[in-house]
This record gives sequence, C-alpha cells and structure tokens, in this order.
Amino acid sequence: MSGKLYLVATPIGNLEDITLRALNILKQVDVIAAEDTRNTLKLLNHYNISKPLISYHRHNEEIKSDILINKLKNGEDIALVTDAGTPGISDPGEVIVKQAINEEIEVVPIPGACAAINALICSGLDTKEFLFIGFLPLNKKLRKEKLKEIEDETRTIILYEAPHKLKNTLQDLKDIIGERKVVLARELTKIYEEFLRGDIEYIINKSENLKGEMIILIEGNTKKEEKNLLNKLSLEEHYLYYEKLGLEKKEIIKKIAKDRGVSKNDVYMNFVEKNRGN
Ligand code: SAM
Repeated sequence: MSGKLYLVATPIGNLEDITLRALNILKQVDVIAAEDTRNTLKLLNHYNISKPLISYHRHNEEIKSDILINKLKNGEDIALVTDAGTPGISDPGEVIVKQAINEEIEVVPIPGACAAINALICSGLDTKEFLFIGFLPLNKKLRKEKLKEIEDETRTIILYEAPHKLKNTLQDLKDIIGERKVVLARELTKIYEEFLRGDIEYIINKSENLKGEMIILIEGNTKKEEKNLLNKLSLEEHYLYYEKLGLEKKEIIKKIAKDRGVSKNDVYMNFVEKNRGN
C-alpha cells in the first residue's frame, strides 16, 4: 500500500505557531522533504524531532518529485515542509501534489500559518473575496499584464514582495491604483510586526529602508465595481441613477457613455432621443 503525502504548514516567524498535529506528523513520517534542510533542521531541533531530510526546492522540484513518489509508492509516509508557512503557496509543492494525485497517492493537508491570510484578516480591507497574486512577475510584459489586472480588480488584492524590490513595486502600483487604500503588513508574528495603513503615497513615504518580510494588500477597485453594477441596469435605470444625483442631461449622457464604453451619440440615439425628447 502507498504511503501518504502530508503538506505540513510551519511557522512564519514565531516558532510557537505550529500545531500539535503538525508536530505529531513530523515525528511519525519516514522522511521530511524540506525546501531548505538547514532551515527545517532548526525547527526540528527546537522540537527535538530527528528525521531523515531530503531537499525539495524550486530548482529540483521535478527530479525530486519522482524520487519522492517512488518512496510513497513503496509505502513510506512523507511530510513536505517549506521554509515558512504553507507549502504550495508561492512555495514548492504544486508539482509533487499533482503527481501524487495522478498516482492515486493520498495527499493530506496539515493546516497552519500562511502569511497572506494573516495579513488579510488584520488589514482592515474587505475579506469576503480576495485575489492572491503572490510575487509579481519580473518579466516586463507579464508584469504589465498583472498590473493591469490589479488596476481593474474589484476584490482585495494580496501581493508578496521582497524588501529590496518593495520601492520599485510600490512605484509601479502608484501609477495604477489612485486613491485606493493600501496596507503593508511586515514581519508578521515576529518582534517588529507592523501594519502600515494608508494611501500609496503614505506607504511609499513610510517604507523607505524598511527591512524584513512584507506583504502588500490593496483595496479592490470600488469605482470599477460601481461601474459594473451600473452597467447591469437598463439604460433608463442608468439615466435615472444619475438624474437622482442631480446631474443635467448633458452630463448624464457623458457619464453613461464613459461607464458603458460607448459613444455619447450611441447613448443619445438609443435612449435619450426616444425617451426624453430634446
Ligand atoms: N508559503 C508561505 C506562506 O504560506 O505564506 C510564503 C512563502 S513566500 C516564498 C515568502 C513571502 O511570504 C515573503 O517574501 C513575504 O512576502 C511573505 N511572508 C512570509 N513570512 C512573512 C512574515 N512573517 N511577515 C510578512 N510577510 C511574510
């Protein structure tokens, strides 16, 4: 019978943020596959756990997955851990999970810390729906496409960023997000844990020379959301909406045309002329 593959979340700073179940699984499995074995060894030593470790990181994910799958097929249980947080979230894990599922090997989550979720719940931004992007692409074209996505996104957006790239990323965001709220969550669960909340200008001013691990959260594009809702109305309802705000006919036509991405003449011909006369 095949062994099981456990995806074990580990602390993102504070070593106490590990569950009893995670510790038990790390003690029970035959092998621990770790992103950086030296790093994981520190965690294991802290909890007096001694286990064979195999390195499993981005650059050897494909090769090491094959080796680990063979072990699983031979009945060994394996725990996969990364340097911090939940495996597979901007971290190795996806490749072996897909392969294990193909081989009908049981994959078991052992929940725990995840930086993105903990930043989100304390951000003060909407938590009902969100978009997790992780690290922005470095490739110019792909990065531009992602930034465009962020510009239009109506849900809260979560980005991971390295401290030395923070300034550059905040500048890129400045051009597209206008007055939307931004939160910088830094060093979560560590001594210098900090949340900076404000608009992008405020965050840029405050983030000069900031060190440590960071997450950028951005309020969804509420103007876009409002526009989406308005565009679901009939032209008449759309007109009435602006009329109730006290706008003049000329201004209303201009606004409807902008919301719907059509010409003012279209709005005029299709609705105003028929329903509102001259
Ligand atoms: N798998 C991890 C998780 O579950 O959150 C994420 C790993 S990813 C390689 C590392 C990034 O996560 C960092 O660059 C930072 O953006 C974020 N991160 C990890 N730990 C953090 C912490 N303690 N405080 C703030 N951000 C953190």
